[in-house]
Amino acid sequence: MAFSATVHFPQRQKGLLIPTGLFINNRFVASSDGSTIKAINPATEEVICEVQSASAKDIDLAVDAARKAFTTTWGKHVTPTERARLMFKLADLMQRDQQQLADLESLNNGKPNRFARDADIGDSIACLRYYAGWADKNYGQYIELDEQQKFAFTKHEPIGVCGQIIPWNYPIQMWAWKVGPALATGCTIVMKPSELTPLTALKLCELVIEAGFPPGVINCVPSLGSVGGAALSAHPGVDKVAFTGSTITGRKIMEAAAKSNLKKVSLELGGKSPSIIFNSVDLDQAATWTAFGILWNSGQDCTAGSRLYVQEGIYDKFIKILVEKASQFKIASAWEDDVAGGPLISKAQFDKVWNYIEEGKREGAKCVLGGQKLAGKGYFVPPTIFVDVKPNMKIVKEEARACRIFGPVLSVAKFSTEEEGIALANDTTYGLAAAVHSNDQAQCNRVANALQAGTVWINAYCLLYNNVPFGGFKQSGIGRELGSYALHEYTSVKAVHWNFGEKLD
Ligand code: NAD
Repeated sequence: MAFSATVHFPQRQKGLLIPTGLFINNRFVASSDGSTIKAINPATEEVICEVQSASAKDIDLAVDAARKAFTTTWGKHVTPTERARLMFKLADLMQRDQQQLADLESLNNGKPNRFARDADIGDSIACLRYYAGWADKNYGQYIELDEQQKFAFTKHEPIGVCGQIIPWNYPIQMWAWKVGPALATGCTIVMKPSELTPLTALKLCELVIEAGFPPGVINCVPSLGSVGGAALSAHPGVDKVAFTGSTITGRKIMEAAAKSNLKKVSLELGGKSPSIIFNSVDLDQAATWTAFGILWNSGQDCTAGSRLYVQEGIYDKFIKILVEKASQFKIASAWEDDVAGGPLISKAQFDKVWNYIEEGKREGAKCVLGGQKLAGKGYFVPPTIFVDVKPNMKIVKEEARACRIFGPVLSVAKFSTEEEGIALANDTTYGLAAAVHSNDQAQCNRVANALQAGTVWINAYCLLYNNVPFGGFKQSGIGRELGSYALHEYTSVKAVHWNFGEKLD
């Protein structure tokens, strides 16, 4: 195969052949300027392989391919039933190759292999199936009018060519969240995976061919954000751009969209999500959910519960239990037994997280767990908890460049009244997610209503389902993914007025 590499896994003797070319028009091709990206294993810091990196010219080619497909074989030229059939087929192929995809995801991202298989790939398969089910159910409305000789109806038409720019923390899952609604509604896709994690997105392209998708419906162009991502968001031939990543990049994408063709934009950005723990809680349960909320995916999760507010009556007791729970999280390589979290994704993220940890110590926050570098190779950071933090400390407040520390680092503060807890939780420019833990149902309801966030968990954390919408309030984003809500992001509503009787004099 042209543009391919054999990659090796620690637990397997046999290597796996994977594609490394740009995927345009169902073919793996070279980058026009010969540039490549090195894919790194964050657990060992070693290069896995090199993949082709798209230039602005390659983005033009991918957009042209997607446009041609939209106007000939996809869009209004394919039945909803056929779209659904192909999507179900792709999901079946992903299920067939679930372990192989999980191995590749673990190799390139570092996440624990069982979570990659069951959560990342498993949920992505379910996501594709969920949206395949929507393909023939995206109806408009019949609208009766006051005048008897006329009526109107609406159609939900596919928006067209969609640029999709995704991050490295959930490479396959973010792929599925974006590809699912786009395909179901009849859009075509130019997918730009993160330059840090291009391997599974490229492997999926082989399955796209095998499933039988016409050329140009799904294209995949690994590239640097400043090259391929910027070209895609400024491209006049792209009708919509969907993005998940940092707030700072989200702003650039919106600006590029505004300055080019005012393409529709949906953004899933960062958060600095709070949890409020009230005196009445089941301490053990609340601590378990809280540890899970910050440590899942080694804290590299846009919804991670990084700010914790604990009511004064249980503060010391709760922290003791929480520290015990968090210290049991085993941070290690993907294939080790009982591993709960992998390394951070890159040297840049690793250095950034350590800078914040050092800054926290300098500002006087008390570190009660972690906070010390681990020996050996790999970008591993141990679970780290700061207590008695103050609202103006850098580890709590806005961080200079990006949305949050984006590592397994938790800041804890004390509050006394419900109003104070809510005020502290809402004291942020972000509004992605929040949690309330209390055994008082009325209090849960009051606090959930008051929290300014797109997702609120009551006595839980991190729960996401393909049929429940997800997205941010405030600077955490625009638009919604998942559920039926995501379909609106990929369609334009056309109102048709039908006159079957009235004549003008
Ligand atoms: P990023 O936002 O820069 O990267 C995400 C995606 O955007 C990648 O595909 C990247 O290539 C692309 N991109 C970068 N610059 C672009 C541009 N100018 N135009 C178009 N696309 C562009 O994120 P990062 O630099 O990898 O990580 C930095 C911080 O972002 C993290 O510390 C974290 O706080 C945040 N982040 C959030 C999420 C999330 O799920 N919301 C995911 C990843 C990173």
